[in-house]
Amino acid sequence: MQTLFAGGNLFDGMQQSPAGLGVLVEGGKVRRVAPLPEFTGFAGPRVDTSGCTLMPGLIDCHVHLTMGGEADPATAQSKLSAPQIALKTLERAQITLKGGIVAVRDCGGKDYIEFSVRDAIRRGEFEGPQIRAAGRMICMTGGHGNRNGRVADGVDEVIKAVREQIHAGADLVKIMATGGVMTPGVDPEDAHYSREEIGAGLAEARRFRRRTASHAQGAEGILNAVLGGVSSIEHGIFLNEECLRAMLERGTFLVPTLAAVLNIIRNRDRGIPSWAVEKSERVFERHKQSFLTYYRAGGKIAMGTDAGTPFNLHGENALELQYMVDLGMSPLDALRAATSLAAELCDLPGQGAIREGAEADFLVVAGDPLADISRAARREHHRGVFRAGRPALGLPAMAGALGRVAAQAAF
Ligand SMILES: [Zn+2]
Repeated sequence: MQTLFAGGNLFDGMQQSPAGLGVLVEGGKVRRVAPLPEFTGFAGPRVDTSGCTLMPGLIDCHVHLTMGGEADPATAQSKLSAPQIALKTLERAQITLKGGIVAVRDCGGKDYIEFSVRDAIRRGEFEGPQIRAAGRMICMTGGHGNRNGRVADGVDEVIKAVREQIHAGADLVKIMATGGVMTPGVDPEDAHYSREEIGAGLAEARRFRRRTASHAQGAEGILNAVLGGVSSIEHGIFLNEECLRAMLERGTFLVPTLAAVLNIIRNRDRGIPSWAVEKSERVFERHKQSFLTYYRAGGKIAMGTDAGTPFNLHGENALELQYMVDLGMSPLDALRAATSLAAELCDLPGQGAIREGAEADFLVVAGDPLADISRAARREHHRGVFRAGRPALGLPAMAGALGRVAAQAAF
């Protein structure tokens, strides 16, 4: 069956398209993008996007679906059985899709539970976003992420840990290069692997054609990961001149996850562990500077939120667009970061663009997000979410507002 989307503006993942285009969908894919007169006489179903902008569904390059965004997610998770975590993981994936996010990169789960959710969605047993998942994050003894991560020390063990993730079904490999905010007793500025260890792990992942992500906050760890050939630096809080140069030279992505730190600071009095609040407040100014410096230097930035961390809610991922623009990114670049560039980083060639042959995964928003990013960032302006050309999860094809559709399941 064919469906024609027409009537409003079109952002194709790279730029605003000329007015008066129609997008014909067939078999879940974009079949044709052409001026409306070409579709004269089309008698099939239409989605009227008048007054709205049709754009690719958004992609979040950094989420944790096994975590629920509670004040203390690790403690909340520890009280749940594996089957309970699995159900919540599926529920969060669906809430994420309702928020206009058609694909996510899960940057560290628990006991591969998120793989079963990914695979069930892939097989069509449940509706949800496309999921790329890292499995267990790889970290050193006592390092950031050691509660759910795969602890590995020394070159040989790091290589073995990478092989384990690939054997378990990881789409990408996540290696922790520094300390972080959400683990007690570690300092975000400390490098957590030697250059040799992290370089060996990244090379092993590459050997099996896996992209890589490094949680990297301090400059020494960032540099270790970048020189090891990592695909993306997550957070990137203390970028210095040397990091900047190395990242620009190699085309390394930065996934800033501004929402992670911002939501901890904004909700500091709501039960978040005090060490996490203290560290967030300590790093936030530098975080903002690093993001802007990389942006102004022309570095590649892909949108990611770290959803699942305190008060960083699944389903509200698109707010990251607003945070990036508030700091000085143009709306056009923010939208690219969440569509075409995110698809490049996540290795999802059919996503992040509206062009012939691409997946018909769309977000329709009221008004023009290139003039006002809140149109894409805030759910109250969303009018339709489509997966494979069909309204996602029983949402109406075009609704007055989708912002009230789903409450966060974790609360
Ligand atoms: Zn994370």
